[in-house]
Formats: sequence, C-alpha cells, structure tokens
Amino acid sequence: MEIGVLAFQGSVIEHASALRGAAGLLGVDCRIVEVRTKSGLKKLDGLIIPGGESTTMCKLCEREGMLEAMRDMPALFGTCAGAIMLAKKIHNEEAGQKTLALMDIEIDRNAYGTQAESFEERLDTELGTLNAIFIRAPRIKSVGEGVRVLAKRGGEAVACEQRIGKRYCLATCFHPELSGPVFHEHFIRSLL
Ligand code: GLN
Repeated sequence: MEIGVLAFQGSVIEHASALRGAAGLLGVDCRIVEVRTKSGLKKLDGLIIPGGESTTMCKLCEREGMLEAMRDMPALFGTCAGAIMLAKKIHNEEAGQKTLALMDIEIDRNAYGTQAESFEERLDTELGTLNAIFIRAPRIKSVGEGVRVLAKRGGEAVACEQRIGKRYCLATCFHPELSGPVFHEHFIRSLL
C-alpha cells in the first residue's frame, strides 16, 4: 500500500518513521511518500495530516488545489492541526478558513491555552496506554453519533474515528507519532 504524509509543516519525519515501524510490526509492505502537490495525492491509499498550524496548512492546501482530492482520499489520519482540518465544526477558526469538514466532530482550536501551556500526560486509550503529547492542542467539544471515541481525557474525546461511507477518518488532539506506532498501526489496519 501507499500512504502519504502531507509535508508542508509539522512532524513529517516522525509520522513517516511511526508508519514505517507500524508497517514493519504488521508485516505490511507500505510505501511512504511526502505529499505537497495535488498530483502527489494520486493513487494514495491513505493520507496523514500532521500537526502544525491549521490556518497555514489550509491555505497551502487551497493554494495547491488539493482540498477536493484530499476529501476523496479513502483514509485520512489527522493529528492536532490535522484533526482540525477533518472536523465539520470548528471554533476559533480564522475567517474564511477552508477545511476538509468530513468528521462529525466539533473542535475548539487552541482551547487548552497557549503554546507554553502544552503538556504531556499518560493516557489510557482503546489502543493501550501511551504518553500523549498535547502541543497547543485543539479540544473536541462534541462528537456525532457515528463517531467512535478511542481515548478520553477528563470526559472529553481526544482521539476518535469515523467511517463515512467507504471513507475512514481518524483524528487525535495529541501527537501519537511522538509516542510510538500504535495509532499508525490502527490506521494501516483500517486499510487492510
Ligand atoms: N494550534 C494549532 C492550530 O490551531 C494546532 C497545534 C498542533 O498541531 N500541534 O492549528
């Protein structure tokens, strides 16, 4: 299979290495490619949208005419800013911010505070316990009926997934690529 990592900004290398680790553990032959153009999205089985600054990433994806093709991707995994791009409802968004708006989640940008208030915490998830790293993270305020919650913090979802027709979406408020390959394994499994 071929999985792309949107490579405008964020922990692209860490996502690629978590994917490589996950593919190795699952014994799956997976080609990993960095994506910066619309043509780079062709033939991909899935795409990871890393963290970063969602307003900037949206502008770059729009400038490159990538948004439509990204919406058509069979599987998408958004972390932090990537989760913002996947959410249908965003609070504190920049005026005119064009996102993918695929998942039935309501998300609040920068709701845990400033960059300096970023934190790391042991988190029990459906995929096991990990050290979750929240970097000026968004907060999921509510999830729709078809959304499965994979991890909660203080009663609120911080990781979730949704199948929308044939499409699969996975979103985390934290950065699983910095903690190990479990979420990447889960993403690859969704493609098998
Ligand atoms: N604060 C960023 C945003 O709103 C997200 C931060 C991150 O991706 N670590 O897009």
